[in-house]
Amino acid sequence: MTESAIRSIVIVGGGTAGWISAAVLARFLDPAQCSITLIESEEIGTIGVGEATVPLMQHLNGLLGIDEREFVKATQGSFKLGIEFRDWGQIGNVHFHGFGDYGDAIEGVAPHHHWRKLHSLGDPASIDDYSLPYAMARRGRFMPPSSNADFYRYAFHFDASLYARSLRSHCEARGVHRVEGRVVTAERDGETGHIAVVLTADGQRHEADLFVDCSGFRGLLIEEALNTGYEDWRHWLPCDSAVVAPSAPTGPPTPFTVSTAREAGWQWRIPLQHRMGNGYVYSTRFTEDDRARDLFTANVPGKLLADPRVLRFTTGRRRKFWNGNVVAIGLAGGFMEPLESTSIQLIQTAIARLVEFFPDRNWDSRIADEYNRVTVSEFERIRDFLILHYCLTRRTDAPLWDYCRTMPLPDTLAHKIDVFRASGRVPLLAEESYQEPSWVAIFLGNGVLPDRYDPLVDRIDPERLRAGLAQRHRLLVRAAEAAPPHEVFLQRCCPAEA
Ligand code: FAD
Repeated sequence: MTESAIRSIVIVGGGTAGWISAAVLARFLDPAQCSITLIESEEIGTIGVGEATVPLMQHLNGLLGIDEREFVKATQGSFKLGIEFRDWGQIGNVHFHGFGDYGDAIEGVAPHHHWRKLHSLGDPASIDDYSLPYAMARRGRFMPPSSNADFYRYAFHFDASLYARSLRSHCEARGVHRVEGRVVTAERDGETGHIAVVLTADGQRHEADLFVDCSGFRGLLIEEALNTGYEDWRHWLPCDSAVVAPSAPTGPPTPFTVSTAREAGWQWRIPLQHRMGNGYVYSTRFTEDDRARDLFTANVPGKLLADPRVLRFTTGRRRKFWNGNVVAIGLAGGFMEPLESTSIQLIQTAIARLVEFFPDRNWDSRIADEYNRVTVSEFERIRDFLILHYCLTRRTDAPLWDYCRTMPLPDTLAHKIDVFRASGRVPLLAEESYQEPSWVAIFLGNGVLPDRYDPLVDRIDPERLRAGLAQRHRLLVRAAEAAPPHEVFLQRCCPAEA
């Protein structure tokens, strides 16, 4: 261990971000060489939402040595093959963003080009006919892939408060020291400006070399102590509020999340084993809280299990995620609405990146700069993918949709849309979270067809192509029908703990 090594870390906040950060740091650092302390306040509590994930969550479980079935049991969880979008694009439209692709390339060309050709010849098949997650989701079935050749993946729905509880025991067993207390202020080093110590209301002082700010929207250290600044993206993603409440289940849990577009936003349904998670994300520019609450309540399936509560947020990001000796992770770093369930994924990638770019007490600014560069790029590419869902709309029934249809777009997104329309291809950077099949799902799902298909497709006789794709579809349907109903799979593998 070198003289300048980091010897102590304080994490402020014990929500999903705080406990995931603590677990990953404890996995890689030796507690004898670097102490990890997490301070949280029961009085303040956590945000208490965040129940749907993306497939990267599997990787986190694997990294931490958490058995996936035990995880689903302990969090009353269920499996997720993708998201069904209703009334996006136009009222009555239903499309699916599955975790997977549309099958192997045919003669080196992605299947959606071949589909586009047959579509232009009048074939009625949908691109979803070549998606295995879609075929299973439609039938309410679930089975994990038996090999990587199955070209689909899955994620989870889970109860976030049960998850934080089980991560806490996991971390405490690995040497993370938890402190109950409300942080009231932070003192800075007169020379470097770094945070030197945080003080809790009961007078305790907690010094550390590195601080991880997981204190939620306030950004206790990154903003209140360091005034880092925030880039507001509400002109592109105008939703700034959500009304949320759980409801009693009305049937077996579906293996997918549902997102239904409404007049001033959209409403989610996240099926857990013991309840349904619900929320209506809306823009206060385009509706009022009372109206949003009424619309939400009218569209909740089953009996509400709690009074609806309203949450506010500002979509955007801190100007720097890493500032001095503070790294902001989770809501403290920034927020984008949960349309594609990306927040927990961003927590995971942020803490993994901090491990990758782990500092020492020389605080070489080139390390923080690179961390910030990659994190900003990751946030912005996800932002563009979320905006895509809104800007492709053809809805004319409400002011929100008129705004989204005509708003100016980030150049990076406008470029992707142009290239897709011209060629059916999506130009992607190396660090993009969403690969081409995801973009294709949202473009085609919203009725945007590329002007042409890849000319290499014309090497294949249309009859042969038609027969090949029909055979693919039959095989997918057979595989989906061989999978058990989702609730049967859950009962067998991971029934919720009482
Ligand atoms: P919080 O949960 O707010 O935790 C903050 C912590 O800091 C708490 O422990 C609190 O006690 C502590 N704290 C605050 N101030 C102090 C203080 N002064 N002293 C001591 N401790 C303090 N994400 C997804 O991945 N999927 C989803 O489906 C999803 N849905 C969402 C829906 C909505 C409407 C919203 C708003 C968010 C959603 N998210 C979702 C995001 C997700 O909820 C968060 O990313 C996740 O819960 C992490 O939150 P956090 O830990 O950063 O903050």
